[in-house]
Amino acid sequence: MRIGIGYDIHRLVEGRSLVLGGVHVPSPVGPLAHSDGDVICHAIADALLGSLALGDLGTHFPPSDPAWKDADSVSLLKRVVGLVLARNHVVVNVDVMVVLEHPKLAPHIPAMTRVLCEALAAPVDAVSVKATTNEGLGSLGRGEGVAAWAVTSVDRCKG
Ligand code: MG
Repeated sequence: MRIGIGYDIHRLVEGRSLVLGGVHVPSPVGPLAHSDGDVICHAIADALLGSLALGDLGTHFPPSDPAWKDADSVSLLKRVVGLVLARNHVVVNVDVMVVLEHPKLAPHIPAMTRVLCEALAAPVDAVSVKATTNEGLGSLGRGEGVAAWAVTSVDRCKG
C-alpha cells in the first residue's frame, strides 16, 4: 500500500461559483482560479499522484494550458485516477479535510461523497469528506479563501 498527501487553496472572490467535490455550493463568492478551482478535487488528485510518485497536478495539467480554463475538476480527477489504474493500482481510501469559514458544507457532503466515489471508482465507505472552519483565524478565518488537505492510499490490483 502507498500513501499520498495533497493540499490546495484558492482565494475567494465575487462573481465566481463555488464548486467543491464536484458539487455547486450556493455562495456569494467562489474561487479565483484558472479551472473551476475545486480544492477538494485538486487536493485528492495531488495526493493520488504523490502516492505513486507521479509528480504534481501543475506538471500534469499546467494552469498556463488553455485546455484547463474553467475546467471541470472532476474530469481532471478522473484523468488522475486513470493514471493510477494504468499503473495497476486502485484507490483504497481517501480522507479530505476542507477549511471554509462559510457557508456550512455539512448539507452538501453526501452529494460530494457520491461524486467523488464515482470519480475514484471507490466504494462509499472508502471516501471521507470532512469540513471545518478556521475559527475566524487568519485569512481563511476572514473568509478570504478555501483550502483542502487530502490523504489517499492506493494498492496494487490483486490478480
Ligand atoms: Mg487548485
